[in-house]
Amino acid sequence: MHTQIAIDGPVASGKTVVGKILSEQLGWRFLDTGLMYRAITWMALHKQIDASDHLALENLAINSQIELVASSEGDRLFINQNDITDDLRSRSIEATVSFISQISGVRTALILKQREIASSGSIVMVGRDIGTRVLKYAGIKVFLTASTDERAKRRFSQALEINPDTTLKIVKTDLERRDLIDSQNKESPLLPADDSVIINTDNMEIDEVVQKIMQLLITK
Ligand code: C5P
Repeated sequence: MHTQIAIDGPVASGKTVVGKILSEQLGWRFLDTGLMYRAITWMALHKQIDASDHLALENLAINSQIELVASSEGDRLFINQNDITDDLRSRSIEATVSFISQISGVRTALILKQREIASSGSIVMVGRDIGTRVLKYAGIKVFLTASTDERAKRRFSQALEINPDTTLKIVKTDLERRDLIDSQNKESPLLPADDSVIINTDNMEIDEVVQKIMQLLITK
């Protein structure tokens, strides 16, 4: 029997780092669905497709081949054979991804791909709508939260690596803007599933969060 752990939450709530460690400890696969939305956004910007051209973007999501390839320096993401890993957190993608993610046809295409990936074994999947939509029947559902200030602080050091001129204020404003758009997403609003366990990670170390989810798995 395959087991699925769904982890959702807002920007910089710790989903990816927690999900990745969990998957390594369990020996399961890991899928960060945010990367798929970022990859389609990269392609749309690259091909200069307007965010209002929903049909073209839906076709792009249906026809693009997204591949995650493990390497000793971390996973690399390829879209139609282009390695775009180093561009995925650029400011232009951060500014556009939440608009592209609102498009129904794009979501449907990516959700199909996500379910297909999940069908072949136990998995830890992270995103915004994994517990509410993608893996509705996941055995464990977790929704991670943290205060905006705490999340901005966490994201700030990563953002500095990409743009040395950024400030905490810019990072916090970007994060709040993206959270607002994501919570207004008509099809998959950023919300905990009714049966998810909500964990506020404000005063928690990463390992504590991982342990808490492990406990849920053991006591289930
Ligand atoms: O998780 P990450 O910040 O990389 O996600 C980037 C964006 O992709 C989110 O702000 C959201 O707009 C979109 N997304 C989504 N559904 C998911 C994962 C990400 O709409 N399951």
